[in-house]
Amino acid sequence: MKLAASAGLQNAGLLREGISYLNYVRNHSIPMYYGHAIARAEGDNEVTGAVIRKVDADWSPVPGTEQPIDVDTICVGYGFLPSIELLKTIGCELEYNEQLGGQIPTRTRLMETSVPGVYAVGDGSGVAGAPASIVEGRIAALSVAARSGALPKSRARVRVRRELRSWSAIQRFRAALDETYRIRPGIYNWMTDDTIICRCEEVTAGEIQQFVGTSRDPNYVKSLTRASMGLCQGRNCSRNVSWLVAESTGQDPAQVMSLNARPPAKPVPLGAIADPTPPPIPSDLMMSDE
Ligand SMILES: Cc1cc2nc3c(=O)[nH]c(=O)nc-3n(C[C@H](O)[C@H](O)[C@H](O)COP(=O)(O)OP(=O)(O)OC[C@H]3O[C@@H](n4cnc5c(N)ncnc54)[C@H](O)[C@@H]3O)c2cc1C
Repeated sequence: MKLAASAGLQNAGLLREGISYLNYVRNHSIPMYYGHAIARAEGDNEVTGAVIRKVDADWSPVPGTEQPIDVDTICVGYGFLPSIELLKTIGCELEYNEQLGGQIPTRTRLMETSVPGVYAVGDGSGVAGAPASIVEGRIAALSVAARSGALPKSRARVRVRRELRSWSAIQRFRAALDETYRIRPGIYNWMTDDTIICRCEEVTAGEIQQFVGTSRDPNYVKSLTRASMGLCQGRNCSRNVSWLVAESTGQDPAQVMSLNARPPAKPVPLGAIADPTPPPIPSDLMMSDE
């Protein structure tokens, strides 16, 4: 608690930002339901309501606590996934960190991955927020500048030390926040057979259940069901697929193999690859002759 308080003092700006959000919600008399989750959306062609229910400390549903709410829009947030596709493709060593979104690259203090000369910062290394991303970018840039001779090593060292101090303070604050928002394992008890796990390919939990248990590798389930093969390439569902495999094979989720990354790392229009002519420059960016 003392640690969280001192980390909070060192991140006064972030604390103020959080308090301002809370005040906004209170000032607009928006009801807050702590310890609750959306059980389901109501409506056929559009949302006409929601049903919420209580969850326990592990996020398992508490039976008999369902309650309808009159809403026309539902937004849900269940954490972030790091953008590690390119790092995976070039063979960077990965480690598991539940609080930073699952698998993240192993890095040195200077943000260099296990592949020499390849640095990972920001959301490419675990989602730790905007301030941490900026500081990590600076540390990596200073390291590259010193290594290439663009900046004297002694000057780089002084500046890196300063950035590392800010980075540590942000990390302590994040650790306290992340613990609050950490996804608890009971969430996986919410699934029923017809729960859609892969939204891009519309694969249900029931379809995946037919194949989990036959292999310890989620890539096997992926190739048989197409789960994680759609537009988002598993950003929405890969953790759920991995968890289903972990549960049925008795593995710790941290030990389950990760899904292979396939190029292109992010969806791009076919024309961007196939069309050799450069795209036209938007008129507001054109230089005037006058
Ligand atoms: C909905 C949401 C809410 C969030 N709220 C907060 C918050 O309140 N506080 C907080 O601290 N963090 C928040 N975050 C997290 C924060 O936004 C990220 O951690 C942070 O922006 C990561 O910085 P980054 O530089 O790694 O990536 P980004 O900010 O995503 O920057 C990557 C940039 O690269 C560009 N790019 C991508 N591909 C290419 C390409 N091929 N060529 C050229 N450019 C490319 C993108 O357009 C983008 O501008 C939130 C994130 C989301 C999604």
